[in-house]
Amino acid sequence: MLRFFFAIFLAISVQSFGTDYFSNGYTEARYQFRDLSAQAKRQHDGTHYGFVYVPSKIDPDLTIDYLYVPAKESTDGLVIISSGVHGVEAYAGSAMQNMLLEEFLLTGRLPNQKTGYLFVHAVNPYGFKYGRRVSENSVDLNRNFGIDKKHFDTKNRQFGELKHLLMPEKPASSSWVSHIKFLLSALMEMGKHSIGSLKQAIAGGQYEYPKGIFYGGRDFEPNQKSVEQLLIRFSKPYKKILSLDFHTGFGKRGFMHLLPNPTEDQVLLKNYGLIFGDYPIEQTGGDFYSSEGDFSTYVAALLAKDGKTAIPMLIEYGTLDSQTYQGAIASLSRMVLENQNYWHGSRRPRDGRRIQESFMELFYPSAEGWRDEVERQTRIHLPRFIESFDALNSEGDVCADEIRSAC
Ligand SMILES: [Zn+2]
Repeated sequence: MLRFFFAIFLAISVQSFGTDYFSNGYTEARYQFRDLSAQAKRQHDGTHYGFVYVPSKIDPDLTIDYLYVPAKESTDGLVIISSGVHGVEAYAGSAMQNMLLEEFLLTGRLPNQKTGYLFVHAVNPYGFKYGRRVSENSVDLNRNFGIDKKHFDTKNRQFGELKHLLMPEKPASSSWVSHIKFLLSALMEMGKHSIGSLKQAIAGGQYEYPKGIFYGGRDFEPNQKSVEQLLIRFSKPYKKILSLDFHTGFGKRGFMHLLPNPTEDQVLLKNYGLIFGDYPIEQTGGDFYSSEGDFSTYVAALLAKDGKTAIPMLIEYGTLDSQTYQGAIASLSRMVLENQNYWHGSRRPRDGRRIQESFMELFYPSAEGWRDEVERQTRIHLPRFIESFDALNSEGDVCADEIRSAC
């Protein structure tokens, strides 16, 4: 009898808790990814799992893990799914990778006859493990990647003019007085400039202030070298590539945004239409900014050099309604304070703790509702996007049928 009740209790527990993809940190998320990779190896012939170390002065166990599951019949398309380019944003990105793996790839619900998969887990493991958006060298990796070094010469004059707001050189404080000062200062700048030009100046990236936010570095971070070898090696036999890179923070709370770098490439735009259908793609208009050095554009540019059709897409889960003035200022304030606290410390220890907590909330909200919504939307839409990509012919429908000369 006792055994019977225990079995019922166990069944209810498993049902009510389910699989929790959202982890408490890098080590747990990586463990889950490795476990699922081992299952994939048992199920799919030719599957390859591995990891590469990212050099560090403080931690010898920072790895970028990867899982490659080849197409079973013909090597037409490869879907690359990456997380954690912005370290702390990997909480959600890693969770969605693990969900897609467990619920869709391992159960045969993703097309796999002519489409292969490469999962790249925690591109910035330092940032994931230590709760930072940037690398150990304080570089924003999504402003750092590239197939050449041109972007390191970019001058962002307006960022320099906003230095007083964006990189205060004194200990950080989480007091109301400091928040109000920041708010007034931000509102003054909004009075002087359009919101579009401010976003471009701040989030577009800068290469001159190593202690500032959105700093893209002066040379490539070691993460690029590690990832590049994987990308070239596993994409070799494929003709078309879809790169999906997970992020959090920007946009309407609990909403999945498609945010590619703005492009006027008609072939790419047509392929976006074929893959993402009527899902809104937010890449034009005054409120959006372009940046150099972003990961998914780099992946596409790298692989397009080999004559492949490469389609980059950044997937962002909004957290703080940054499309509103209030949300945009709050998001910026949390990023500035975290960076200020890192470089200059905080006025009181509790300020430091509060600053780190609200920074985490910006990129990894603790609300169950937010996490459920991220899962729900990813479950509905991602497999659909991948199926549409699978259905494109191997050169991309557009190239084959309509404007071949443009390819
Ligand atoms: Zn990001």
